Amino acid sequence: MERSVAIVEDPRYGSHEGPAGHPERPARLEAVGRALRARRASLAPLAARPADDPELLRVHGASHLELMEEAARRAPCRLDPDTYLCAQSLDVARLAAGAAVDLARGVARGDWQAGFAAVRPPGHHAEADRAMGFCLFNNIAVAARALREEDGVGRILILDWDVHHGNGTQHSFEEDPDVLYVSTHQFPYYPGSGDFDEIGRGRGEGATLNVPMPPGCGDAELVGVLQRLLVPAARAFRPELILVSCGFDAHRSDPLASMDVSGNGFADAARVVRALAEELCSGRLALVLEGGYAEDGLEESTGAVLDVLLAADPGLPETVAAPPGSTLRGLVERVESVHGPRIPGLGAP
Ligand SMILES: [Zn+2]
Repeated sequence: MERSVAIVEDPRYGSHEGPAGHPERPARLEAVGRALRARRASLAPLAARPADDPELLRVHGASHLELMEEAARRAPCRLDPDTYLCAQSLDVARLAAGAAVDLARGVARGDWQAGFAAVRPPGHHAEADRAMGFCLFNNIAVAARALREEDGVGRILILDWDVHHGNGTQHSFEEDPDVLYVSTHQFPYYPGSGDFDEIGRGRGEGATLNVPMPPGCGDAELVGVLQRLLVPAARAFRPELILVSCGFDAHRSDPLASMDVSGNGFADAARVVRALAEELCSGRLALVLEGGYAEDGLEESTGAVLDVLLAADPGLPETVAAPPGSTLRGLVERVESVHGPRIPGLGAP
């Protein structure tokens, strides 16, 4: 059977423009677009649609929307030292959140087997009441809430492999036992959260799994962590759909972070996640772009991940070894010490 993979791509995302030299710039999506061009004939286009207030208000407070609207009236302006807003930014941010909702919804309904939303601005740092870290609205959190409340999707796994911790997403779901949030990220690093002992709160305790990684981690650490930690955690959780906060800023050429993941590493990560989706939730898998600030890294990584989504049978990467004393072994043991009692087989390849 031919694979059906949706793509959200919209030139309007280019009209969110900040100060000269800002890394979160329209050229990022031009780089993603170069990867899409070669594959566009195989992809099902999905038009971007602005998220409406009720959708945003499932994640954000009314005061946050008012603050955004007030800021848009005095644009261009900054919401924090990193986060800018121009006259078009609010409309563009609504298009990013709306696209995440529609992509995830189409995948949940079976319109496509998988999909990728190439959106700006990113979302995972946006808190309920605060824009931060280039993010205005939390696109992936808005999508997950829509699926839960409108589409009857009970259990959602959000994997966040952006190099930064998704503080906003974690906080959105930290008391929710039905959304498992798993994040791999450079640590200590912006935004400062995401340590091993942040595991969720109240009824959500255990449904947040953080893998803070030292600078310099590459393909072996990313893929090994997914094989040894994500896979058993997902099997224990049994998601009905998998969302990926798909940042490409762990790429070795990224100017903001200090990780060493290659395009092949992202392909192998996508293989692990696609196989997991097929095993656990009929393949339902939706990826939403987050960060990634090197144009070559964005182009290479997007192409690598899309090829895995499109392939008839992309296979699985070989199990990454975790010898004693290795960084991977250290990470696995730390996570095991926190989550081991709850998750059968955690740490095993
Ligand atoms: Zn990032």
